[in-house]
Amino acid sequence: MIIDSKQYNCKCTCGHEHKMTTDFCIIESGCLVNIDEYIEKCGLKGFSVAIYDKNTYKATNRLHPKVDKEIILPPENLHADNHGIALALELIPEDCDYMIAVGSGTIHDITRYCAYKKGIPFVSCPTAASVDGFCSSVAAMTWDGFKKTFEAVAPKIVIADLGIISKAPMFLTNSGFGDMIGKFIALADWKIAHTLTNEYFCATIHDMTMDATKNVTESAKAIKDDNITAYEKLTYGLLMSGLAMQMLGNSRCASGAEHHISHLIEMQPEGLGVKSDALHGEKVGVGTLLACREYHRLKEKSLKWKDYPEFGSNYIENMFGDNLSLSITKENANDCAIGITAKLISEKWDEIRDIIDTIPTYKELIEKYELLGAKSSLCDIGVPEEKSDLLLDYSPLVRNRLTLMRLRRAIIGLENKK
Ligand SMILES: [Zn+2]
Ligand SMILES: [Zn+2]
Repeated sequence: MIIDSKQYNCKCTCGHEHKMTTDFCIIESGCLVNIDEYIEKCGLKGFSVAIYDKNTYKATNRLHPKVDKEIILPPENLHADNHGIALALELIPEDCDYMIAVGSGTIHDITRYCAYKKGIPFVSCPTAASVDGFCSSVAAMTWDGFKKTFEAVAPKIVIADLGIISKAPMFLTNSGFGDMIGKFIALADWKIAHTLTNEYFCATIHDMTMDATKNVTESAKAIKDDNITAYEKLTYGLLMSGLAMQMLGNSRCASGAEHHISHLIEMQPEGLGVKSDALHGEKVGVGTLLACREYHRLKEKSLKWKDYPEFGSNYIENMFGDNLSLSITKENANDCAIGITAKLISEKWDEIRDIIDTIPTYKELIEKYELLGAKSSLCDIGVPEEKSDLLLDYSPLVRNRLTLMRLRRAIIGLENKK
């Protein structure tokens, strides 16, 4: 399958002109063999560097693209963070003209950020369907302990070899499924924000992400059965989600309350007291179920609202302690929900309830997780179940982005309704 992403370069009905960096994506078994041809086709030339980790170097075995320099990063403790970036930047020669990322999410985020810093393009070769960030133009990184999205560069082309991707360890595939299923929440949050504050919204981007998400959700059983078409659908979905982010220029269409839960766990704030080694998509998958259950629960209640209250400094310090409070306070300085009144929420509540209905129910979702064998509970990702309320209450703070989870602060007497 070929995705001709240049077709999305257009003056859209939303009034914006969407611009794509990515020329095309190839999703086929054995396509890595022809990488030289694809690189030539998209016009890249000069000194080339391929970036792997030891695992992905092995996984691509005799298919390594011909390059001027190979960089193989150690997989142990390799993250998209200050350390990973410094390590890679030191090894990339000054005169490098383009790079090839051969790996999963971390290798891609490191490469896309280094490519951005150096002002050069890169080629993406995903080795697992583990995350939706391959095509995106932003890099999700941990900087001084704070989970942040950085401006970076999207790949010029993507060569997704299904022969390699379908042989990746199952937990990586399940992680991609979790990252994808989270879009139900992210898209609902985006629509709710648009309804309340008239935040910019593009129906084309919304619909392409939603279609891809539904397709992947329906493929759970076939992925488990090792069906190559199901892997193609999952890879396609993950790439489309990334392309949607690229069109939008940010991650609004791909990341909402479910990602904030995952990010809060990753940041390991003092007040939460947990440490999870689970992968990004595994945490997002569990965050999706938490958010899904809570959103549908709110929908059923007759709620009383107050004007949205700001987060107090004590509230922040209790959870984030000395290390993280400053960056969290900065992030929320101009709270996106300030000005949302009880009256406005009440007026829009019926519309919001309809939007919640676009999210499958908890029962419908968990069935898919079970078909696939994906992690579905906090316990599965090493977080005690009793942390659930803390995660719902504090996760909106990791990103100043309007979500229904953030709006829960404006519900009167929420505690008594649990
Ligand atoms: Zn648009
Ligand atoms: Zn994600």
